[in-house]
Amino acid sequence: MDTLIIGGGLSGLTVAHKLRQSCPGHQALILEKSERAGGVIWSHGEQGFLAENGPHGFLDNCPESQLLLQETGLDRECVKAPLSKFVRYVCMDGGLRCIPQSPPKILMAPLISPLAKLRVLGDLFKKPLAGEPTVAEWVAYRFGPALLPYVDAVFTGTYAGDFNRLVIDGVMPGVRNLEMAHGSVIRGLLAKMRQSKKNGDKKKGLPAMTSFPGGMGRLPEKLAESLRPGRDLLLNCGVLAIRKSQSGWEVDSEQGTHEAGNLVLALPINSTLGLLQGFTPAMPRKAVPEARIVTIALGFGPGSTLPPGFGYLAPEQEERFCLGALFSSNMFPARAPQGHILLEALIGGRRHPERLDLDDATLIRQALEDLRQLLPLQGEPVYARVLHPKGGIPQLEAGYPGLLHWRDQLMREHEGLFIHGFGWEGIGLNDMIKSATRVADAIRENSMAKREEAAVKGIYF
Ligand SMILES: Cc1cc2nc3c(=O)[nH]c(=O)nc-3n(C[C@H](O)[C@H](O)[C@H](O)COP(=O)(O)OP(=O)(O)OC[C@H]3O[C@@H](n4cnc5c(N)ncnc54)[C@H](O)[C@@H]3O)c2cc1C
Repeated sequence: MDTLIIGGGLSGLTVAHKLRQSCPGHQALILEKSERAGGVIWSHGEQGFLAENGPHGFLDNCPESQLLLQETGLDRECVKAPLSKFVRYVCMDGGLRCIPQSPPKILMAPLISPLAKLRVLGDLFKKPLAGEPTVAEWVAYRFGPALLPYVDAVFTGTYAGDFNRLVIDGVMPGVRNLEMAHGSVIRGLLAKMRQSKKNGDKKKGLPAMTSFPGGMGRLPEKLAESLRPGRDLLLNCGVLAIRKSQSGWEVDSEQGTHEAGNLVLALPINSTLGLLQGFTPAMPRKAVPEARIVTIALGFGPGSTLPPGFGYLAPEQEERFCLGALFSSNMFPARAPQGHILLEALIGGRRHPERLDLDDATLIRQALEDLRQLLPLQGEPVYARVLHPKGGIPQLEAGYPGLLHWRDQLMREHEGLFIHGFGWEGIGLNDMIKSATRVADAIRENSMAKREEAAVKGIYF
């Protein structure tokens, strides 16, 4: 074997695909613990409704993901819901408040008071905040407290996280760099805009949410299609231990011992840390917290409607049972039978793990009670299913930047070792595809995988 890849989720499958594309003859083998490839990506179809057990989609603004779609032919299959056509809502004071689609419109909207808008400009006069501040501390310091509920909603929607624990250097490293380099985020953004104008960069419109007619499960399914079982992909093959050997790497799995020159750990942070105990330099922490959620898919017949848009998120101060809900049949109408609607409510997250212990009937009852106060849902649902995702979302909290530095150092000191996957350098599907592409490039060039320069994303939720 040239390369052993541990983990057959999107990260591992993308590395294998990229190696097949760019290095003919390169022998790569994926070792996957479970009985199927795809990791946390898992679509659930039933009674004409199609819901997601894991990710619901990804934005079409990442060149590496777009290339992957073209290479696999999935670009001809995908379905898109443009952000320009779908508004989003934040639950405030017990009702849904529409969030406009562009920063100038957000500034003009009466989301916060005129005085609070003036306070946002305080960013121009505040020194960079030293240390490793949490998102909430950092936002309150730079822009004032009025923005906190909206920012809370953003990190509830992306990390199912608690912005009093997530650190700004972990979740928005690009924005933090602007603060450090320009002394102010606003000044940094203006400088970026001037530079783009100078470069003649084309103005980009709003991206679209992308999925597939059969749901997100189609993505790993297609990537795994060309892998030969037993030759390129071993299922039910959990890895128990890894060590360096004279010629590269040796791996003990449930199916024996394997050897290769390169070893790719394409795993969520905690699974990786479990395999790297005992490696030097010693790891600064043994685990990171994870946020687990359940999704409750609810189908309603004629009479029930959803407001136009993608869905809503609820900041913690609203004290609601659901973290938010996706208006799935608005985005992708084929997700519900004709004349029906489908919404998917999210429960639990970093702040409310205790709710995941409730039985399904209680979860459905409490979610419905909550949703009915916000949405015009008539009668009882014709379909209700509680879906339990296969994994939690790694939380980039205190100590995470140090952990990332440790990972980089480990890769520098151990030739042929590549560490990426869920939670290392981001948590989204686009992040995984980007880092997997860099790992495959580094293997092809016989070099070390470089960390991506922290970018400022146009859209954060
Ligand atoms: C509930 C939920 C909702 C999400 N929603 C979105 C979304 O809407 N949009 C978005 O962009 N992203 C979303 N994400 C994130 C996205 O799903 C992940 O970024 C991505 O799927 C991670 O892929 P991965 O391959 O790195 O990790 P995983 O999918 O976790 O795959 C890792 C694989 O490694 C295997 N494994 C673990 N340990 C071992 C071992 N010792 N030996 C062998 N194999 C092992 C596991 O079985 C698994 O198959 C969501 C995630 C979750 C959990």
